[in-house]
Amino acid sequence: MKLLFLGTGSAKCKRLEEDQIPEGARRCSSMLIDGSIQLDVPIHTYDFLVKHGIDPAGVTDIFLTHSHDDHFCKETFLRYAKAGERRLNFYCNTGALEYLGLTKEEMALVNIVTFEAMDTFEAAGMTVTALPSNHIAGKNEQTLHYVFEKNGQKLFYGLDGGWLTGKEWNYLYKQALPIDCAVFDTTCGEQPGNFRIGTHNTIPMVRLLVEAFNENKVMGEGGKYIASHMGPHIHGVPAEETARILAEFGVIMAYDGFEIEI
Ligand SMILES: [Zn+2]
Ligand SMILES: [Zn+2]
Repeated sequence: MKLLFLGTGSAKCKRLEEDQIPEGARRCSSMLIDGSIQLDVPIHTYDFLVKHGIDPAGVTDIFLTHSHDDHFCKETFLRYAKAGERRLNFYCNTGALEYLGLTKEEMALVNIVTFEAMDTFEAAGMTVTALPSNHIAGKNEQTLHYVFEKNGQKLFYGLDGGWLTGKEWNYLYKQALPIDCAVFDTTCGEQPGNFRIGTHNTIPMVRLLVEAFNENKVMGEGGKYIASHMGPHIHGVPAEETARILAEFGVIMAYDGFEIEI
């Protein structure tokens, strides 16, 4: 699987338009798998792809983690839906749909597939398992993490969410192992006392997760840990320092435009 990070920041990153974003700043978190499968659809993604010479019409499938507006931008979503000739596939938790603000006509533009947490299904040439994340969005919505399996490679995508729920750890520990790559929420950086503790991770929490993944062989040999969804405004230390701290325990700090093959 080839991963391209389209954005690696947290909610406050949505305030600027693509052409106003300073060099090195973070956009809202999103990722592209193998050039055609996108995870979340925040404001900057469409223009970011165009800027990097990638045709957004080549995105055939979009998976949603949850309905927060730094993960779903209706206007951006509709631009993808209307791009090119293909019919876009859109995957989300059943309960999330009502919080996206889409009319019936707008929903009819795409092929919508809804599911519940702990469901496993085939989509976009992958085996997909939706896991319940420890995060809060719409009242009737279950926020999600995912395990994507393609060509024998397994990716755990864990944005947003503080720590893991019992059900998802149970699945990772007993059924998904070994995985080849884990992307962790690292929103609160080196601010262990941050009030977001119930719904987002700090770096010390990511360190413990890495230890548990290694100790219990949830991560395979040579597997990769990647930190994303970082809030530069609340991280407490400069980005270079964050990268150094994360590297101490084997975690790569993602940045916008970061590419990696797993
Ligand atoms: Zn977020
Ligand atoms: Zn969120």
